[in-house]
Amino acid sequence: MKAFAIEQKEQCAFTTIDHISPRNGEIVVAVKVLGLCGSDLKTYQGHNPMVEYPIIPGHEIACEVVEIGPGVPSGIAVGSRGTVMPYTKCGVCPACRSGRFNTCSTNRTMGVARPGAARPFMTVHHDDFIPCDGMDYSDIALVEPLSVGRHAANRVPAVAGKLVLLYGLGIIGVGILIELKRLGAKVIVADVAADKLDLALRLGADYALDIKDAEFDSTIDKLSGGMGLDIVFDAVGSAKIVESALSRTAVAATIVFVGYHTDTIPFNTKPIVSKELSVYGSRNALKADFEGSRDNLRSNPALKELLVTNRFAFSELAEAFRYWSENRGSVMKILVDMPEGERK
Ligand SMILES: [Zn+2]
Ligand SMILES: [Zn+2]
Repeated sequence: MKAFAIEQKEQCAFTTIDHISPRNGEIVVAVKVLGLCGSDLKTYQGHNPMVEYPIIPGHEIACEVVEIGPGVPSGIAVGSRGTVMPYTKCGVCPACRSGRFNTCSTNRTMGVARPGAARPFMTVHHDDFIPCDGMDYSDIALVEPLSVGRHAANRVPAVAGKLVLLYGLGIIGVGILIELKRLGAKVIVADVAADKLDLALRLGADYALDIKDAEFDSTIDKLSGGMGLDIVFDAVGSAKIVESALSRTAVAATIVFVGYHTDTIPFNTKPIVSKELSVYGSRNALKADFEGSRDNLRSNPALKELLVTNRFAFSELAEAFRYWSENRGSVMKILVDMPEGERK
């Protein structure tokens, strides 16, 4: 079958790969819609340190089951729609032993550390399949990206009624915002792009503030009654946010880091001690996050109208990456419509 590969920085090609029959516990799925992730864009731009070229990108999958392999328990049927958890778990590392499979020490994300979903068919383990019957494929393709933010929001034990500052409204920030509002938090979204701030309000944010605004600090002061923020999420990955988070949080507050920082700063841990802050990291998502994100998309099909900014055909994938690379600010989510395709 024909697969799409990124061969090296900004160089793509269609290649022919063999179809693999399902092994014990595996199913074969036909990929119907594929979402492009920021990590796929990084691979295209040559900035993804986890990737070895050539790589078939893609891990945001809407698919249909077309074959059930041996040893798959009943309950998954041919014709069923769903998405796929793109991570791997070893089962023996400390994370796996405490049920935190999302941060397995040997995780190999699909499309990053192993071949991805930019192809018409693939085999996956039945345990990684998340059924999404009755849903539109475009909604299903949004389950994985929104589950990452959902996971981050749930790193904090209790958010109801809390004043939260969320830095960055990319797709992960969107998932965080949706989950925080569902859980009853009061959310301030901070970004630099006017259309992101507008989107934040449409998604239910209580306030949307421009980080560059001269009144930024005084507004936060006013909103928190001078007490500081209860929770700060960094979904940007900028070292400046560390300082800002440490100084703007209230006593006994929480900070969650979701975006990867590429820069470093020296910082004093004094505010963490003196304010007794809780600091969390958040990575990937758990099965419960996938299921929660699916249920939310199922009851909010209009969400995709706000989030899917561009659509391309499979044959135009190289163009899709080039477009995204040149239009970073205006793209929220690109979906790719997959062809029927030859299975052999
Ligand atoms: Zn992704
Ligand atoms: Zn593990």
